[in-house]
Amino acid sequence: MLMTGKEYIESLRKLNTRVYMFGEKVDNWVDHPIIRPSINSVAMTYDLAHDPEYKDVMTAKSNLIGKIVNRFSHLHQSTEDLKNKVKMQRLLGQKTGSCFQRCVGMDAFNAVYSTTFETDEKYGTDYHKNFVEYLKYVQENDLIVDGAMTDPKGDRGLSPSAQKDKDMYLRIVERREDGIVVRGAKAHQTGSINSHEHIIMPTVAMREEDKDYAVSFACPSDAEGLYMIYGRQSCDTRKLEDNADVDLGNAKFGGQEALVVFDDVFIPNNRIFLCGEYDFAGMMVERFAGYHRQSYGGCKVGVGDVIIGAAAVAAEYNGAAKASHIKDKLIEMTHLNETLYSCGLACSTEGCKTKAGNYQIDLLLANVCKQNITRFPYEIGRLAEDIAGGLMVTMPSDADFKSDTVVGNNGETIGDICNKYFAGSDCATTEERQRILRLLENVCLGTAAVGYRTESMHGAGSPQAQRIMISRQSDLEGKKKMAKEIAGIKEK
Ligand code: SF4
Ligand code: FE
Repeated sequence: MLMTGKEYIESLRKLNTRVYMFGEKVDNWVDHPIIRPSINSVAMTYDLAHDPEYKDVMTAKSNLIGKIVNRFSHLHQSTEDLKNKVKMQRLLGQKTGSCFQRCVGMDAFNAVYSTTFETDEKYGTDYHKNFVEYLKYVQENDLIVDGAMTDPKGDRGLSPSAQKDKDMYLRIVERREDGIVVRGAKAHQTGSINSHEHIIMPTVAMREEDKDYAVSFACPSDAEGLYMIYGRQSCDTRKLEDNADVDLGNAKFGGQEALVVFDDVFIPNNRIFLCGEYDFAGMMVERFAGYHRQSYGGCKVGVGDVIIGAAAVAAEYNGAAKASHIKDKLIEMTHLNETLYSCGLACSTEGCKTKAGNYQIDLLLANVCKQNITRFPYEIGRLAEDIAGGLMVTMPSDADFKSDTVVGNNGETIGDICNKYFAGSDCATTEERQRILRLLENVCLGTAAVGYRTESMHGAGSPQAQRIMISRQSDLEGKKKMAKEIAGIKEK
C-alpha cells in the first residue's frame, strides 16, 4: 500500500508520540506551526511516489513482499537501485529545499539487513529473520522509520562502558525471557517526531566490556517510556508570527531534529537485531554511515540546485545578471554541486552485493562524497551570499513592507518607503525580491541552514570520521608498490 501525503499526515494523528518543545508538552504536534513544515517535507516523499513522472525513481519492486513499494523502504537490489536512490534524493531536495528526513530509515534498513545476516551466520542468532519480518511490516504499511545512531557520547575520550554517566550511550539495562529493557538517548535525530517507528543502532565499534551497548532494535515512536525534545533552529519562531509567509523564505517545508529519550523502554524479542554481539557493532555503524554518506550526494545537491536558482534570480532582480563575474560565480556553484552529485553516483555505480543479497555502495567513494559535502555547500552558500548582496540580512520585516503607518512628510507609509527604497530591477516586484532573498537567508542562515550547512559538516559523521575511513580504504601500501615498480626500486 502506497500512502499519499495526506494519508501519511493523518496516520501521524493516531500515534501518541510524546513531544516537548520550549519546556512544555506539545499535544497537537502535527499542526504545530514550527513542526508542520517538516511534516510537509516528509509528505512529499509520499506524494511524489504517486506521480507518474517520478514513478521509476520513487518506487521499486520489493524483493521481500513482491509488491511496488516506496523506494525509501526498499532494499537495493542492484547498482541501478543505488543510483536511483541518489536521483530520488536530489529530486526531493529540489522539491522541498530542505531535509525530507526519510533517508535515515532507508539507510538503516539496508545496513541492518546485511549486518544481521552476517551476525546470524557467526552466532546462529535469529536477527535477520526478525529484521526481514519487521521490514515486511514497514513495506506493507508504507511507514516512516527513523534510523537512529548517534548517542550523546558524554566524554569523547572514554568508551561507552567507561563513562561516568552510564546513560551516555544507549544500553540494555535488563534482559528478560521475552525481551530487553533499554535506557539512554539518541541525539540529533532527523525526522524522529515525524516517524511511525524507530530503528536503533550502536554509534561506535565496541569491545567486550561494551557489550550491553551493542544493541539494535525497532520500536514504535510512541512506545511506553519514549519521548522526544525538539531541537530548535535559527529563526524558528518566525513561524509563530501572524501571517507568517514572506519572511520565512520557505513557508511550506523544513527539516527536523530532536533528542529521543529511552526511559526504560521494553523491546520484545522479535524486534531485536543485535544484542551483545559487540564485534558486529562496527560493521553496522560503517555500513549505515556509508549509505548515509552516499545519501548526501543526492539531497544536498537538490537543495544546491535551489540555491543556485535562487542566486540567479536574485541577480536578475538586482539588475546584475549580465555581469560576467556573476555568470562565473553561478558556473562555479554548478561545478561544485555537480561534483557532489558525481560522487553520489560514483559510489553507487561501484557498489557491490553483500552476503545477504542487497547492494552496498563503494565505501571509499561514499566517504570521499561526504568529505566533499563538508566543504562545497559552504562555498556554494558563500557564493550565493556574494551574489545576493547584503539586503539578504538587513531587509525590514514583511510587516514593514505592508504597513500603512504614516512616516513621511507627504503622507508616505512605512510600506511606501520600504517599497520605494528596496525596489530593484523593473523585472520584479519588491515582494518578489523579498521572497527570493528570504529563501536564500533561510537556506544559508535560517531554519533550513541546519540541513544545508551544519548538517553537511556533521550529519552522517563529522569530517574526521570520513578521513579515518578514507585512510583505511586507501590502500597506501598498494600505491607505494606501484610507484616503486615504475621507479625501478626492488621490493625488499
Ligand atoms: Fe535525507 Fe539528506 Fe535529510 Fe539525511 S540530511 S535525512 S540524506 S534529506
Ligand atoms: Fe542527515
